Amino acid sequence: MSRTGIGYDIHRLVEGRRLIIGGIDIPYRKGLLGHSDADVLLHAISDAILGALSRGDIGTHFPPDDDAYKDMPGASILKKAMEIARKDGYDVQNIDAVIIAEEPKLSQYYDRIIDSVAGIAGVPPSSIGIKAKTNEGLDAPGRGEAIAAYAVVLLGK
Ligand SMILES: [Zn+2]
Repeated sequence: MSRTGIGYDIHRLVEGRRLIIGGIDIPYRKGLLGHSDADVLLHAISDAILGALSRGDIGTHFPPDDDAYKDMPGASILKKAMEIARKDGYDVQNIDAVIIAEEPKLSQYYDRIIDSVAGIAGVPPSSIGIKAKTNEGLDAPGRGEAIAAYAVVLLGK
């Protein structure tokens, strides 16, 4: 039995924050604004996993106004989502994700991002696909004001 899920997230890019995508630090003059590390990619992947399970989203499991979850790093959220999946008897077959970022150029980090996501989720790197695209100068991501991410996952048991 297989189940598929989709996830989406977007965070504002601001000065004075670290840029953390997929659990790795990316050198850049701006970072993503939000609770904890604002890891847009891990948030989208976690939402896709919970969606595939028909178990709501990260907002329902980890409400940001609850002090216990307020500053939970993206890696912890993904680990929890995987725990929920495995408790339901599912594991990840594959994850595919798109990061929408005008800057910085992320292609040089694909391997590190894939290894990091694989390590956090406890799945082989060969089951993870990551790509980044610009937004052709359009809208907030295109103006360099935000970074967005889409993810789809296939779970199987
Ligand atoms: Zn987020």
